[in-house]
Amino acid sequence: MVECDEIEPKLFLGNLDAAESGETLKNYGITHVLTIYMFPITKPEGLAIETLFIDLEDSPDCDIMSCFEKSNAFIKEGQEKGGCLVHCYGGVSRSATLVVAYLMKKYNVGVDEALQKVKDKRYCACPNAGFLSQLRLYETMKNTLDENNIDYKIFSLYHLGRQVSSENNFHAIEDYLFKFKEKQFEGDKFKCRQCRKCLFLQSNVIPHIKGQDLYWNNFAQQLISEQSQTICKNSLFIEFLPWMMEAHQSLSGKLFCPGCNSKIGHFCWKGQLCQCGATISPSFKVIESKLDKESHCVTNVHPLTLQHVT
Ligand SMILES: [Zn+2]
Ligand SMILES: [Zn+2]
Repeated sequence: MVECDEIEPKLFLGNLDAAESGETLKNYGITHVLTIYMFPITKPEGLAIETLFIDLEDSPDCDIMSCFEKSNAFIKEGQEKGGCLVHCYGGVSRSATLVVAYLMKKYNVGVDEALQKVKDKRYCACPNAGFLSQLRLYETMKNTLDENNIDYKIFSLYHLGRQVSSENNFHAIEDYLFKFKEKQFEGDKFKCRQCRKCLFLQSNVIPHIKGQDLYWNNFAQQLISEQSQTICKNSLFIEFLPWMMEAHQSLSGKLFCPGCNSKIGHFCWKGQLCQCGATISPSFKVIESKLDKESHCVTNVHPLTLQHVT
């Protein structure tokens, strides 16, 4: 039998061999197996187990955070219905990260406390540096994925940019845009100078610090601690938004106003250099002279669906 570690009652952390051993699963009373690895497991014969497979490499640059909601729900169900084993290849980084995120959510605690709880039972548990940063951001967001958090926005955009520019995966855009549905938006509004269409809001602006490449890790904290004059005013970069039709199918090109078709900016999924020397990746840069800013507005409809906004 291959050993695995019981982190708390009915929650197990282990390696690939444990997950594929019928004896192990039977002995520990495991009914649910969560695999985070490049391949799904070969289910041991004669055992009815529920499985969830998440395809992810153990690289600091991988987005593990967007799996947390799915993995948390599965682990919770597994713990309630029987026993849940979470595993990757070695049971050290990926699977430990998911277990830590689960405990953070369940007990409303921070990374350090949750990780210690895991290490107490499995000494080798050690999320890689990138995963640990993501867990810290998760903690900053109060153990949830907060779409309004600036670091999370930059993080999501960065990963979308990578999927699009290095894998040519334009389908990833659809999932990304899904979050724009049914959300309330408010703040200063930016309109097309030519046709008056509302194009985006202040909250869609992605600020960056002069000369410093845009990166998600603790950017918000930096924004607060740095004096505001360190924020670059050379160019206006915004989030990727649904009306940027060209960007749905090309790696780089012009941005056009969806109302009058006049050119209002430029995009590049790989990223662009700002005049200040900072790389913004991916970049959606608008020309300020083509826009008018209007103070505080509230709308229930995203400005970019354009129907209910004037
Ligand atoms: Zn226009
Ligand atoms: Zn700049």
